[in-house]
Amino acid sequence: MSDTDATTETDHSLRTPIVAVLGHVDHGKTSLLDRIRGSAVTAGESGAITQHIGATAVPLSVISEIAGELVDPTDFDLPGLLFIDTPGHHSFSTLRSRGGALADIAILVVDVNDGFQPQTLEAIDILKRTQTPFIVAANKIDTVPGWNPNEDQPVQATMEAQSDRVTSDLNEKLYEIIGELSDNGFSADMYWRVQDFQANIGVVPVSAETGEGVPDLLTVMMGLSQRYMKEEMEIDASGPGVGTVLEVKDTRGFGTTLDAIVYDGTIRADDTIVVGGLHGPIVTDVRALLRPRPLEEIRTEQEFEQVEEVAAADGVKIAAPDLDDAMAGAPIRVVRDRDRDEVVAEVQEELAEIAVTTEDEGVVVKADTLGSLEAISSTLEEEEIPIMRAEVGAVAPRDVRVAETAGEPTHQAILAFSVEVLDDARDLAEQEDVKLFEDDVIYQLIERYDDHVTEIEEAQQEQILENITRPAKFRVLDDHTFRQSDPAVVGVEVLSGELRRNVNVVKWEGNEPTRVGRLKSLQDEGEEVDAARTGERLAASIDGPTVGRQIEEGDDLWVEIPEKHAKILEQELAEDISVDEREALSMYLENHRNRDPFWGK
Ligand code: GDP
Repeated sequence: MSDTDATTETDHSLRTPIVAVLGHVDHGKTSLLDRIRGSAVTAGESGAITQHIGATAVPLSVISEIAGELVDPTDFDLPGLLFIDTPGHHSFSTLRSRGGALADIAILVVDVNDGFQPQTLEAIDILKRTQTPFIVAANKIDTVPGWNPNEDQPVQATMEAQSDRVTSDLNEKLYEIIGELSDNGFSADMYWRVQDFQANIGVVPVSAETGEGVPDLLTVMMGLSQRYMKEEMEIDASGPGVGTVLEVKDTRGFGTTLDAIVYDGTIRADDTIVVGGLHGPIVTDVRALLRPRPLEEIRTEQEFEQVEEVAAADGVKIAAPDLDDAMAGAPIRVVRDRDRDEVVAEVQEELAEIAVTTEDEGVVVKADTLGSLEAISSTLEEEEIPIMRAEVGAVAPRDVRVAETAGEPTHQAILAFSVEVLDDARDLAEQEDVKLFEDDVIYQLIERYDDHVTEIEEAQQEQILENITRPAKFRVLDDHTFRQSDPAVVGVEVLSGELRRNVNVVKWEGNEPTRVGRLKSLQDEGEEVDAARTGERLAASIDGPTVGRQIEEGDDLWVEIPEKHAKILEQELAEDISVDEREALSMYLENHRNRDPFWGK
């Protein structure tokens, strides 16, 4: 927590835990958030549930109303739960506070019919990495065939009211999810059987469609926060605010504004703030703090109302000058009575923590937030893929210009994660042959880039192999001379490697290779062929020698390999040629190196 100046009074209080909803696409994250909001409204507490910027606050009174007998409000002193509105683990992983996740606690939504999917696993990884406590909402229980819905009821009650078959069908699906959690290193059980939520993951069967299990979900979240996170929720409520940028966007009448979550202290309409920007910390004075106007109050054109102060945890829209370079996912700190340079240094430090190392050569990465940029970059680093530019924001023509300068063809690429690609950038990329990869799932984005690299490398390898002389050793067979000379046509057997047409042929005499002619064509039982492998016998026509003079029946001959080719074959392509070619090559090199130890090196 930030240092407080001696002149500032500390005002300890408990803030609202911040909740994020994660899970695979279509598993019901948005529906679940909507249902929670909807239940709050139908609980007759619509006044109490407040729309915030980027988040929905559900106060304890509303939770206890929804949860009914499941919750005794006197058990709690945390004020409620603040749900981040943008669901998806990607927003979760990218919204950070001091190196950790911005959310204090998470709901991992898993469709009971679909089980674990790629983004579920990705979410699990992020939860592990950030050590964020979570529970699993096993969603869509109403889709079990024969399900009898009991709107908004606690889940155990509604499960008991189902037929035996339905219950056993559901249980089977739930145990599959528990099994998958265990495969991923988490011991898990139905939430009502979990005693220690730190050691075990609680699974809450729910339906975002019917609201069944939603009371349980809220109760478990509240209980978990109260039990395990109370200490972390203790803040100096009147201290200088600390927060994270959710989004940078234009707001009519205010220019570029920040949607932010404040997770510590307060931010006031007359504060000076420091915000993480593309080119370092931005110091600016708040012009206005904005909140969505309550629905019933929209009389004017204005969507927002101005407030004097916002206290953690809360979402707010901040209007201030000079915010164009601010980045989603970046820290915000209030200066107030503190030393301005000290606060700038803190923001700088937080930015440095997320900074990505770039090199002179590599790919261009663009991402929607600092956190996602960091996540992609660390994966690329693990794969030893260098990065030339890593930035938050849309893909612009200048990014294509940078990508174009990469030396390696595989690096002439832009990896765009959850960002817009400007039309002129797309056109330019096509024109300049810069590859553009776009995805909203990190591992898919990188997998697609990897596939592209493999494709390029294979093509390059093929190209090289095609133009390189391949090693082969062959023998002139006894009694198979079909023609003495011009050209000599003899029966041969390939001893090692692959014999092709249009190669020069050498014979070793003592220590010296002597070129005897050029192999023009190969015939197998009267048919022209391009190549022959070890063990094959066929007729070779060789321009140059006369049988009985430069070559004899029984001679061992070699394909002449230019020194440069021999070097590439030995040093770069050894893995790409066949075993018998490798054997022919090593014998060929040995012959040369008897004479000159450095040949082909
Ligand atoms: P998200 O991509 O995870 O945010 O998923 P959505 O909330 O958009 O839900 C995807 C689809 O599943 C939508 O058509 C929802 O109506 C549906 N859906 C979500 N939850 C439930 C549920 O509990 N029961 C049923 N039957 N459908 C659901």
